[in-house]
Amino acid sequence: MFSVYSYTLDAFLWLLRSFFQQDDHISAPKGEVEKSQECVAKGSGWLVEENEYEVVSLEDLPGELPQDTTGRLSRGLRKKEQTPKRLRLILVGKTGNGKSATGNSILGKKVFESKLSTRSVTKTFQRDIREWAGRELEVIDTPDILSSLFHRDVEAREICQAITFSSPGPHAVLLVTQLGRFTEEDKQAVRRLQEIFGVGILAHTILVFTRKEDLAGRSLEEYLHETDNQDLAKLDVLCERRHCGFSNRGERAEQEAQLQELMEKVEGILWETEGHHFSNRAYQYSQQCLLLKGEQETGMTQGQGSEEVFVEESCLAGLPQVLKESEKTHKYLLGRVPF
Ligand code: GDP
Ligand code: MG
Repeated sequence: MFSVYSYTLDAFLWLLRSFFQQDDHISAPKGEVEKSQECVAKGSGWLVEENEYEVVSLEDLPGELPQDTTGRLSRGLRKKEQTPKRLRLILVGKTGNGKSATGNSILGKKVFESKLSTRSVTKTFQRDIREWAGRELEVIDTPDILSSLFHRDVEAREICQAITFSSPGPHAVLLVTQLGRFTEEDKQAVRRLQEIFGVGILAHTILVFTRKEDLAGRSLEEYLHETDNQDLAKLDVLCERRHCGFSNRGERAEQEAQLQELMEKVEGILWETEGHHFSNRAYQYSQQCLLLKGEQETGMTQGQGSEEVFVEESCLAGLPQVLKESEKTHKYLLGRVPF
């Protein structure tokens, strides 16, 4: 059982770790070795250790981008998003946990196919948009990109698609899990999420528990406080206790209330990130491709929005390699942390 003190300490140390480990913060001249402090799990406690890692620069990676001599692209990428008009929410998690059903609940309409199956019913990336409190919510449904069952080639392709489909990056990641069924497979999915996107992704992650009706009147807070599933308790702390429940078979009014609760967590993320969506080297790479393609097509910079653009293969040819290199760095940085 965690004490309040250890929760707070863990959260603080995790924040410290993510600050030093985010892709965005890794910067050193080509080939130089940079020192970083890293929190790693040692036994039952947490320690701050000093580690060395080699920095992989975008310039070292294949898939060359045309030169941006004006600096307009990088200015566009750094643009502050204090109050983004459109929020991108991406659903991830194990097959059957209720990603598609949750997406439908958020959208208030049945858009994504959702049914009981041991195999992934959702085969492709899909999105839909709804208006909510003066904003556009873009909900992205995904196949099970975090599963270890994927063949490596298929997985690489799916992950590239996940990046381009959610470019320039999600504001929130909805990690969908079933209430009372957080298994080893779910734990591996969390690990995979961090390997692919980097540990900083958890700063944008909200734990979404489906089958909320199984709580039978208890609160989700109570359930999480009393759980003896140590992995789940730890994950909840790593996600700064951003969690909410969804009963996807509930009435419309209940679903709107659930959405309201979810959006409060999303607002919390926006507040902490000053409205910035998540980004990493792979997103920056794919975004630069999109911007350059837009420039080529229209002769002007398109620095915003997430138009339904499918970039030419040639432009994104280097993305798998960017992802591979990033994954290597993320795996190294993850070290022996619990997820
Ligand atoms: P996905 O593979 O993660 O997209 O999962 P689906 O959305 O296809 O859902 C898998 C099954 O779980 C479907 O039969 C859904 O109806 C069911 N399901 C999802 N959410 C809930 C929920 O909140 N309550 C109940 N009772 N069933 C749910
Ligand atoms: Mg699905």
